[in-house]
Amino acid sequence: MKTVLVVGAGPAGMAAAIMAAREGAKVTLLEGENAPGKKLLLTGNGKCNLTNLAPGTAARYASLGAGDAGVFAGPATEAFGPEAVCGFFEDLGMPLAARDGWVYPASQSARTVLDALKSQLSRYHVTLKCSEKIVKIRQKDGLWEAMTPTWTYRGDALILCAGSKAVPETGSDGSGYELAAQAGHGLTGIYPALTALVPEDTSLCRQCAGVRCAVTASIAEASGQDAFLPDSLPRRESGELQIAADAISGIAVFQLSRTAVRLLEAGKRPVLTLDLFAQYDEERLTELLIRAARAAGDLPAAKAFGYLAAPKLVTWLLGRAGISPQESAGKNAEEKARALARLAKHVELPIAGTRPFTGCQVCAGGVETGGVDPATMASRLAPGLYFAGEILDIDGPCGGFNLQWAFASGMLAGKSAAAYIADGREEDS
Ligand SMILES: Cc1cc2nc3c(=O)[nH]c(=O)nc-3n(C[C@H](O)[C@H](O)[C@H](O)COP(=O)(O)OP(=O)(O)OC[C@H]3O[C@@H](n4cnc5c(N)ncnc54)[C@H](O)[C@@H]3O)c2cc1C
Repeated sequence: MKTVLVVGAGPAGMAAAIMAAREGAKVTLLEGENAPGKKLLLTGNGKCNLTNLAPGTAARYASLGAGDAGVFAGPATEAFGPEAVCGFFEDLGMPLAARDGWVYPASQSARTVLDALKSQLSRYHVTLKCSEKIVKIRQKDGLWEAMTPTWTYRGDALILCAGSKAVPETGSDGSGYELAAQAGHGLTGIYPALTALVPEDTSLCRQCAGVRCAVTASIAEASGQDAFLPDSLPRRESGELQIAADAISGIAVFQLSRTAVRLLEAGKRPVLTLDLFAQYDEERLTELLIRAARAAGDLPAAKAFGYLAAPKLVTWLLGRAGISPQESAGKNAEEKARALARLAKHVELPIAGTRPFTGCQVCAGGVETGGVDPATMASRLAPGLYFAGEILDIDGPCGGFNLQWAFASGMLAGKSAAAYIADGREEDS
């Protein structure tokens, strides 16, 4: 019986293996770690945000390469869209819960999702081999070979689902990119994405570590040279800002980090602008601050403007606005209020870089999509080779879009590989 080899037992690899086996193929799933789905267990803070019901899934993806990510992601996300992914789990009797379109297992546990996938691997007799790190793949005598340092697995088709470089301790250490290159596939640059950003001026981090607040953040290139960015990349997001000693994060920054990464990759200078009071326009905020200053009289500015934000952040804002925290708030109250309101509405932070791969949720970049047929996930260069998941140059925003891509592309690749070997069987007979 003909065999499909799948390299990598993350969500993409497990989905590919299950789908190929359901379609009648004999499947061997090869995983470098001692257990499947280690990264899956970390997702959504352990709750696993497995897809997103918002319309227009394909348009959410971006790519670092030449191709249009939305066009490339179209066939997989149409064939196996959010409803199909939800249906896959609900058909196994797993209740789901959605909040603003973000879908989680009702158990709020990523372990449930992993258990469901593992049960289907068993149900369809997929041979799961753990602690089998593949170091080489090649096509020889019409078969695909996947080699560990001590063993060679052979199959009629091979699906490469080895993930990215994000959080390498989960097993996704970038070795999959090398395997793709061995098969002749080109790679884009690979960068951390959905990650914390490191400002050029580290004073905010040094002085305000531990502060969390709501912001509206926007990102742009310093001199406005960002027209080359695809529309799918966000420019403005609202959400929580978290300030750490080395970087800034939180959902708004995570979403915009995808855009920052592309600007950095193009050699541009991204500038993140924070609006700490999106609920007020600058004039109204100025009025409030004038009242605060006048009401405080001779009290020091740090006390008078203490209503603004966490004390550490107020001190930092005052410093940036050129106001000593000790000076009397009432003196030149209007001037002080105007300067502070202007700053609080426009905290400009030029960005030097991102946290490293160990601290990011996904990678931007990967296997160039031009070498892969989006209708099947088949290599255009090497017959019988397929790709799925984050190894490809496709990344999505927070909200379940990256797991949606892993499941959709995995299912499509599994189905296509099974059809490929079935066609071969017919030719053989
Ligand atoms: C902390 C965190 C939270 C996240 N939360 C969410 C979320 O809530 N929703 C969402 O949509 N996305 C989330 N993501 C992103 C999501 O987890 C990934 O996009 C997704 O796991 C990618 O699936 P994959 O199967 O392509 O790769 P991976 O999950 O990385 O799996 C790849 C597998 O291949 C194995 N492997 C690698 N190289 C080899 C080799 N040479 N030989 C054999 N095996 C190999 C690895 O050990 C691994 O098991 C999160 C990521 C992180 C890090």
